[in-house]
Amino acid sequence: MAGRAASKVLSGARVVLPTGTVDNGRVIVEGSRIAGAAPADAPSLDLSGHWIVPGFVDMHVHGGGGASFTSGTAEDVLRGVQTHREHGTTTIAASTVTGEMDVLARQAALLSELVQQGDLAGIHFEGPFISPCRKGAHSEDLLRDPDPAEVRKLIDAAHGTAKMVTLATELPGGIDSVRLLAEHGVIAAIGHTDATYEQTVEAIDAGASVATHLYNAMPALGHRTPGPIAALLEDERITVELINDGTHLHPAALELAYHRAGADRVAFITDAMDAAGFGDGMYDLGPLAVEVKGGVARLVEGGSIAGSTLTLDTAFKRAVTVDRLPVEDVVRSISANPARLLGVHDKVGSLEPGKDADLVVLDAGFTLKGVMRKGAWVIEP
Ligand SMILES: [Zn+2]
Repeated sequence: MAGRAASKVLSGARVVLPTGTVDNGRVIVEGSRIAGAAPADAPSLDLSGHWIVPGFVDMHVHGGGGASFTSGTAEDVLRGVQTHREHGTTTIAASTVTGEMDVLARQAALLSELVQQGDLAGIHFEGPFISPCRKGAHSEDLLRDPDPAEVRKLIDAAHGTAKMVTLATELPGGIDSVRLLAEHGVIAAIGHTDATYEQTVEAIDAGASVATHLYNAMPALGHRTPGPIAALLEDERITVELINDGTHLHPAALELAYHRAGADRVAFITDAMDAAGFGDGMYDLGPLAVEVKGGVARLVEGGSIAGSTLTLDTAFKRAVTVDRLPVEDVVRSISANPARLLGVHDKVGSLEPGKDADLVVLDAGFTLKGVMRKGAWVIEP
């Protein structure tokens, strides 16, 4: 940037910092970053009566704005990214759904370029290495066992930008694949799984560190068969993803998981598909047809829930107003934790001098009023 970067001061708001909330706080923006001090003549924007929180980070999202990250062109993907930015998500890892291996590899190459240019923070492969018993909205005929050589092929196709692979670790090759991913610095996420409690413990010991949308697409918690849910919740090494749209999880189930894991081991995700920020209608999820009615996405064939139409501003508001979670906890679960898991916490995920000026302005009722990304307003409050 030529010359002195333009400074602006956002003042008068309740600002959620890593150390807690500051009433009547200020955020100083210099160029694309947050600064520690402002020049005396810097213009100030009064945001009294509002909250300023870090920009949201979504580590599991398949599309939005009518566009799919699995099948879209670069232009489509950027439209989806822009839709989520307008809802406060300033950092996105693109998730794919099950497809042919060569199709996924080609898409990974396309997505990796968008990571290189800074529009995405990485790639999450959800499938094809998942259980046919818990396939959710993935094509059964394209599922395969997690052979480490195949897993390797997929992450290689992402040219170093693969951040996470969701797999059913109980399948043949599952544990070796978890080890392979851990060795390559890629998160092995347990999901779309039919594993027992014991099999899940084995996968965690092998290096798995995330639970893909806990509760959804896995055996239910039973008092004699605790299954993956208990194993994932009790282990300090696991971060659990939760879809807080009121459809995927009953508030009581969310509360149980949130309080067992604690704010630092939860990542709120959207798992959103194309219809997010776009509306009801007919869509494709990979090779499958989906109908969205009243904001709920279901497979045309079989009626499985097929991702969500959630955006993180709605998830944030629900977490505070419906689930009654402390704002500071929600901020950790929706920004700091996913930023850490994606390995971008040195740049984003909290409001600290030196980090990107990525922030969300909310009114007193937690409705989104503004979004700033890298110092520029996406939505001006
Ligand atoms: Zn998903």
